[in-house]
Amino acid sequence: MSDIVKVPDIFGSDVFNEATMKQRLAPETYCAWKKCIETGTSLELPVANEIAEAMKAWATEKGATHYTHWFQPMTGITAEKHDSFIAPTGDGKVIMEFSGKELVRGEPDASSFPSGGLRATFEARGYTAWDPTAFAFVKDNSLYIPTCFFSYTGAALDKKTPLLRSMDEVSREAVRILRLFGDTTTKRVTPSVGPEQEYFLIPRDLYAQREDLRLTGRTLFGAMPPKGQELEDHYFGTIRTRVSNYMKDLDEQLWRLGILSKTKHNEVAPCQHEMAPIYTDANTACDANQLVMEIMKKCAAKHNLVCLLHEKPFAGVNGSGKHNNWSLGTDTGKNLFSPGKTPAQNAQFLVFLAAFIQGVDEYQDLLRCTVASAGNDHRLGANEAPPAIISIFLGDELNAVVESIINGASYTDLEKSMLRIGVDVLPSIPRDTTDRNRTSPVAFTGNKFEFRMLGSAQSIAGPNIVLNTIMAEELGKFADALENAPDFDTALHDLVRDALTSHQRIIFNGNGYSEEWPIEAEKRGLSNLRSTAEALPAYISPKNLSLVTKRGIFTEAEFIARYKIHLETYAKILHIEAMTCVDMLRKLILPAASKYAGALSQTAAGKAAMGVSCKAEKALLARLSAATDRAYDKCEKLAHDIEVAPTGTVEDAANYYHSVILPQMDSVREDADELERLTDKSYWPYPTYSDLLFY
Ligand code: ADP
Ligand code: MG
Repeated sequence: MSDIVKVPDIFGSDVFNEATMKQRLAPETYCAWKKCIETGTSLELPVANEIAEAMKAWATEKGATHYTHWFQPMTGITAEKHDSFIAPTGDGKVIMEFSGKELVRGEPDASSFPSGGLRATFEARGYTAWDPTAFAFVKDNSLYIPTCFFSYTGAALDKKTPLLRSMDEVSREAVRILRLFGDTTTKRVTPSVGPEQEYFLIPRDLYAQREDLRLTGRTLFGAMPPKGQELEDHYFGTIRTRVSNYMKDLDEQLWRLGILSKTKHNEVAPCQHEMAPIYTDANTACDANQLVMEIMKKCAAKHNLVCLLHEKPFAGVNGSGKHNNWSLGTDTGKNLFSPGKTPAQNAQFLVFLAAFIQGVDEYQDLLRCTVASAGNDHRLGANEAPPAIISIFLGDELNAVVESIINGASYTDLEKSMLRIGVDVLPSIPRDTTDRNRTSPVAFTGNKFEFRMLGSAQSIAGPNIVLNTIMAEELGKFADALENAPDFDTALHDLVRDALTSHQRIIFNGNGYSEEWPIEAEKRGLSNLRSTAEALPAYISPKNLSLVTKRGIFTEAEFIARYKIHLETYAKILHIEAMTCVDMLRKLILPAASKYAGALSQTAAGKAAMGVSCKAEKALLARLSAATDRAYDKCEKLAHDIEVAPTGTVEDAANYYHSVILPQMDSVREDADELERLTDKSYWPYPTYSDLLFY
């Protein structure tokens, strides 16, 4: 019985959350903190000291001996440096100390984090500053303090700072719109985010035997097993005991950290699973998703499993993504993407909808770039994930409404002949009949948009920064037009109709996997940026640069730095993959094939000497040798081409790895996989797809 966990008791028990603060802080201190997060002002040092003291007392009771400023550098994962609380008392003893200064500001030696040129070595230090809107927590005997990370000159070196800036922007502009609709109470609008996380679990001992998995996170070789995902017997199937024990353990750890892990199930591919949390504000969701990814990996080790977060660990079965459910909510509890019941509510909903559609259309390339990575390139456009073309799925009901607005024509469900925004009642848009179109990259799902192009391994900060920013931009433009309009209703109607008309091309309710769609999309003028190397130059186009700088999300230098880091990372990943590819060929695959060929020749020679037929051995030998020769030649060419890779600009390197190296890796894989199919399993040097996926 002692094994039974009472979820409400453990939920958030390792978080210094609002309830704990209320309980542990003096009322004035608690109010000062509350005021600071509501108004965005900074804390007075005495208040910070008191909070630090209370945090330390609470954390040490939970077994913490250290504290760390926890931040999200541009690597896309988190970073931490731990300091213990100890302070010498002079008599050979120590006490546990933690000051407001230490809480609020840190100086990790940050010279090895990517800065994209933002930081000269003489000012290599990075600084961290407490984000009081995110809660501190205890994990692995340390007090974790969520922080922003920036350079000596104040340039953002992380993913949290621009996310917070974008949240402020969209709030400001959304509130302007709400005021126009007579809402005088809403003070803040917050983007809400629920990221559904996919992952693979495979046995740890088998993983350890695969150099490609260990070094690159994905299999670079591997012949297809006789069975893949075609029977669809894994999707929502019974979860096997080892995995369900893992999931139970994972949930418990996440709940303790106040993460709202809600849904878990098997996914389409064998060994693939998903976890979906209940949505929270974008900042919390982003922190939480980082923790989810980290704990998913750590927890797997305890169960003798390995959690693969790579977007495409195995060829031939589905890869992993992340569905980013996104909406806007008011501090009074309203979801701004919920279609309303009165004409005024509907009109307001349509303004937000039109702004979203306009923003996604105008900045489709920017949004595309936020999900560009070496790993995700294997998914997007591969008929298992959305295509690389951005479009919006609205569902039949909402689409009919949009069309009737554009055409000024009658909406079939309406008695009136024409739909006038702000005057007529829209038909209610039922929640669940909307999207089951899984082929769409951006889908309206009743009261939120689901952005489905994210890779499973990536930080959700980038996509949400852009969603918030484009929304802020379009709402801002709308507010400018409406605030000065002589006749609000007419202006509103024209504005929504014009926006929907000009940007209707981005709406696509058909099958995104079909062969016709890319052709149709091209006719519509939609961008189709197939790979990271092709996509990223669009990231820093004058239009995108102007958006992010005007909105104060990034300075030009910060933005360009990110572009460089993304390209550089892309080239580096491909470089590592290519090197691993050569290494495995030379040291494992070719030797195994040769050894088996040697054994076969001996058998054949022996048989021949005895006058017995060795037809099969000879035929097999011939095929084996031919494939070995091809693989050898390709391997040597690949090794050579890696060596002569351009070392000039990041653009050159990225393009080279994309157009010269990657195709060679694919090509040599064909021969290596052929060798795997031909070789006696006892000679094969590492676990096969069957071993890994059907254990
Ligand atoms: P499904 O997509 O399977 O129908 P749900 O719509 O219930 O399931 O939720 C899927 C994800 O969307 C969950 O992570 C959930 O928290 C999130 N979600 C639901 N409502 C919102 C919202 N208003 N804003 C952001 N995310 C949301
Ligand atoms: Mg969903």
